[in-house]
Amino acid sequence: MARSKKRFIAGATCTECKAVDSLMLYSEHGIEHVECVECGFKMDEPKAQGSGSERTFDGVIGVFKPE
Ligand SMILES: [Zn+2]
Repeated sequence: MARSKKRFIAGATCTECKAVDSLMLYSEHGIEHVECVECGFKMDEPKAQGSGSERTFDGVIGVFKPE
C-alpha cells in the first residue's frame, strides 16, 4: 500500500455540511490537516474540532463562608 496516511475521524461532524464521519485526517509535511470528503471543506487545526474548552470559573471559588 503506497497510499498516504489518511484516516477518518470517527464521530466527527463537518462544520460546513454537517456530515458525520466524513472528516478525513491526513498528514502533510508533518502537519495534520482535516478534510471533509463530502463538501471538500478543509481545516488546518483538527484539535479545534474537539471539545477542548477548558474554562475555569474563578467565581465559584470563594463562595464558601467559614462559620
Ligand atoms: Zn463537509
